[in-house]
Amino acid sequence: MTKPTPPPPQVYLETYGCQMNIADTQTVTAVLRRAGYASVARPEDADIILINTCAIREHAEDRVIGRLSDLARLKRARPALKLGLLGCMAQHTRAALLEKAPWLDLVAGPDAYRRLPELLGHDGFDPAVDVRLDRGETYADISPEYAESVRAYVTAMRGCDRFCTFCVVPYVRGRERSVPPDAILREVRALAARGVKEIVLLGQTVNAYRFDATDFGALLRLVAGVEGVERIRFTSPHPCDMSDSVIDAMASEPKVQPYLHLPVQSGSDRVLAAMERGYTVEGYLDLVARLRQAIPAIALSTDLIVGFHGEAESDFMATLALMRAVGYDSAFSFKYSVREHTRAHRLGDSVSEAEKGRRLAEVIALQETISLERNRSLIGREFAVLVEGPARRGAGRLAGKTPQFKTAVFPGAAEIKAGDTVRLRVESATAHSLAGAVV
Ligand code: SAM
Ligand code: SF4
Repeated sequence: MTKPTPPPPQVYLETYGCQMNIADTQTVTAVLRRAGYASVARPEDADIILINTCAIREHAEDRVIGRLSDLARLKRARPALKLGLLGCMAQHTRAALLEKAPWLDLVAGPDAYRRLPELLGHDGFDPAVDVRLDRGETYADISPEYAESVRAYVTAMRGCDRFCTFCVVPYVRGRERSVPPDAILREVRALAARGVKEIVLLGQTVNAYRFDATDFGALLRLVAGVEGVERIRFTSPHPCDMSDSVIDAMASEPKVQPYLHLPVQSGSDRVLAAMERGYTVEGYLDLVARLRQAIPAIALSTDLIVGFHGEAESDFMATLALMRAVGYDSAFSFKYSVREHTRAHRLGDSVSEAEKGRRLAEVIALQETISLERNRSLIGREFAVLVEGPARRGAGRLAGKTPQFKTAVFPGAAEIKAGDTVRLRVESATAHSLAGAVV
C-alpha cells in the first residue's frame, strides 16, 4: 500500500511597502507553489509565515517590528511554526534584526527568493539567512501569481543605480537590471489572455529601462502591440530618464495613458543638489512643460520629502511654490527619515520632528486645495472609465479609473461589469475622486 501524501505546507504571506514589494510577493508565491507549498489567508492557519518588508523610512521598519512581535505569540504557542522576514528590511538591518527578533527562522533579501525552498528546508538552531545581492537576478523565468484584477503590475526592472543621498533602495535592492523584453511580453500576453485590461510596468527608475537595443520608449510600444491590453501605465519614472523616446511613446501610442507619477522630492535647488537628484527646479519645470505640450491631457503626481537635513524655511517655501507652479493632481509627501548606509546618514537630521510635522501638514493641506481645484475643473467633462468593481462606499455604486488615474464613482447597472470601459460625465468632485453618471 502506498502511504498517503502529507498535505502541502501552508504559507501565509504579508506585504508592506511599495508596488514593487507587492509584485515581489507574487513572485515568492509562485516560487513556493512550484516547490509544493500552498497559500493560506490567515496566519493562524499557516505552517510558515513570511513578511515582505519595506525599509524606506524608519516608521515602515517600526511597523514590521511591531507586527513581528504579534506573530511571535503564535510561534510561542506552536513552536514548529516558521517565521521569516523577506525584502528590503531583511537586506537593510540583518544582524540588528536578529537581535530584535531572535525567534526569526529565516531572513531573505530581494535577490534570494529563488532559494526560499532551500532556506525553508534548513532545520538548524540558527536562522537561515540569505541577503546576497545578485546583479543578474531578474526572476525573468518565474511567472508571478497575479491577483485577480483588471490591472496587473509587471516588473520591468529591478534595483537602482541613482543613489539619491537620502535613499536606501540602491543598498537593499542592488544594482539596476532590466528584465528581457521577451519575458515581459510573455507575461503581458498571458495576462491579456486572462482578461487583464491594464498593465503597469514597474521599476524604481522604470524609464531607465534598457535591454540591448530596447529602451523604455520601445518597450512601451512593444507592450502596446499586445492584443487585449487596453491601457498601459508605468511607475516610477525618474525625471532625468524622461527621454524623448519615452515622451514620444506616451504622446503617440493611445494605449499609454496620460498620467505620470514624476517624483520631484523638493522645490529648492539647494536641497535637490544635497539630495543629488540630478536636476534643478528649472530643468524639472521644463520637463513638465514638454510633457504638457506633447500630452495635453496629462495628469501629474509626485513624491515630496519635507525636512531633509539642512532644509531651511526658505527651501520649504520653494517646495510649496513648486507645487503651485506645477499644479499636481495628487502628491505623496513624507517626513525625511535618516537611513543607515545612505550617504546623507552622516550629515544628520537638522529639522526637528515637530517642524517636519508642521511642514508635512502644510504640504498636505496645499495639495488638498490644488487637487480639489483641479478635480472641480473637470465637472461637466466626459472620461473613459475602466471599471474595477464596487465602490468602497455607497451601495450599488461602481468605481474605476479615468485615463488620468483618477478614481471615478457612478451608479452601477446590471450590464456593467469589472473590465468594461464606460463613458462617464463628471457631476461632482472631491480632492480624491470624481463622481458622475454613465452617458
Ligand atoms: N524611485 C523613485 C524615485 O526616485 O522617484 C522612488 C522610490 S521610493 C520607494 C518612494 C519615495 O519614498 C521617494 O520618492 C521619496 O519621496 C520617499 N523616500 C525615500 N527615501 C526616503 C527617506 N529617507 N525619508 C523620507 N522619504 C523617503
Ligand atoms: Fe531611491 Fe533615488 Fe533610486 Fe528613487 S532614484 S529609488 S529615490 S535612489
